[in-house]
Amino acid sequence: MKKLVHLREKCLECAGCVGICPKMALDMYGLDLQINHENCSKCGLCVKACPAGALKISENENA
Ligand code: SF4
Ligand code: SF4
Repeated sequence: MKKLVHLREKCLECAGCVGICPKMALDMYGLDLQINHENCSKCGLCVKACPAGALKISENENA
């Protein structure tokens, strides 16, 4: 099952991905990006928008 993964070590905390998500599945609490996996449709828009390559869609739930 696909899953959106956030790579914290790469994240610039720019919050650019938060406003791009059409499902409002992303939020920032302080500097910590939160993913609401139930809302995420794995559309990949945020992955393309992230300037740091800090988001990816994993094919494997445990990857
Ligand atoms: S993959 Fe799509 S639905 Fe999921 S958080 Fe990113 S922009 Fe939102
Ligand atoms: S767009 Fe990328 S670098 Fe910016 S907050 Fe989102 S994950 Fe982090």
